[in-house]
Amino acid sequence: MSRLWNFSAGPAAMPQAVLERAQRELLDWQGCGASVMELSHRGKLFMGLAQQAEADLRELLAIPADYAVLFLQGGATQHFGQIPMNLAGEGDSADYIVTGHWGEKAVSEAAPYVKVNVAGSSKEQHYLQLPPRDSWQLDPRAAYVHYTPNETIHGVEFHAIPEVGEVPLVADMSSNILSEPVDVSRFGLIYAGAQKNIGPSGLVVMIIRRDLLQRATRPMSRIFHYADHAANDSMLNTPNTWGWYLAGLTFQWLKEQGGLTAMCERNRAKAELLYGSIDGSGGFYRNPIDLAARSRMNVPFTLHDSALDAAFLKESEAAGLLALKGHKALGGMRASLYNAVPLEAVQALVDFMGDFAKRHG
Ligand code: PMP
Repeated sequence: MSRLWNFSAGPAAMPQAVLERAQRELLDWQGCGASVMELSHRGKLFMGLAQQAEADLRELLAIPADYAVLFLQGGATQHFGQIPMNLAGEGDSADYIVTGHWGEKAVSEAAPYVKVNVAGSSKEQHYLQLPPRDSWQLDPRAAYVHYTPNETIHGVEFHAIPEVGEVPLVADMSSNILSEPVDVSRFGLIYAGAQKNIGPSGLVVMIIRRDLLQRATRPMSRIFHYADHAANDSMLNTPNTWGWYLAGLTFQWLKEQGGLTAMCERNRAKAELLYGSIDGSGGFYRNPIDLAARSRMNVPFTLHDSALDAAFLKESEAAGLLALKGHKALGGMRASLYNAVPLEAVQALVDFMGDFAKRHG
């Protein structure tokens, strides 16, 4: 069976060139006679890989020198709890902007460690839009402001970095990191689970302003303490070496593609093509998100008659289009258009959707 066009929300499509290279190198990496998975993380070869991956990520995102880059584990979910452990002390509060499912999860996981103030939310609008910036009740004494630039399930994305004054801005970029250039200096902390735009699951990439590593918050095991991870080059314990390797290959692939400016243009073209086809379907397909907040990465859509959902899924898979079923919270369909999904895949999806609408309209 050949590979299908994969619209999975995560774990998601990886660049085929990366998979092919990993396949070629699997048994004998760099002529060392073993797989990268079978080597000590403290050996010279793997240390070289780790340094190169960090250097490539720094180049792609133009990460300033006063930021540390960490390669961690635990998924983004673990860091929902670990971020307040590291950034907020006894009695501190933190502001959360909630624009969908993952923002809600960030709040509930943070609650044992910090007084959570939901400073802005679009829950009452069913997360169909972003809460207007002038409605946010930010506290200038907050330990940090947390938000989710792209909500993977609801398909809502911030298209500008919010202004929050002097309070460090913390962003869960799990589903939009590396999809466009960003000004890292606007953030205190950026973190992302790898399994959408970086590599396989089981790896978290974190970019943290070094002064935030110095916050004395509470006693905790070293393994939870970001400063200890930074001081040990993310090798406090055995890291996810395989994930780190694939992330490094993905960073190299992104550089070969022309970096994040090129990815941004591609991602915009892909999103325009799909939204254009939904909006131009005469109501057969529908995406209800406010135009200004539509996600370029995750496009949820419904069919005008949900009785057609099963046929849509069955026929789309037969047409070579994988993983279009929407999240159970919303139903309907969702197409995720991460970096590794080419325009050609979106064209195939749009062609299928047009044909399906003709046959079932
Ligand atoms: N945040 C966002 C925006 C996500 O999309 C996801 C996963 N889909 C998570 C957090 C949770 O990630 P993990 O499963 O790696 O903990």
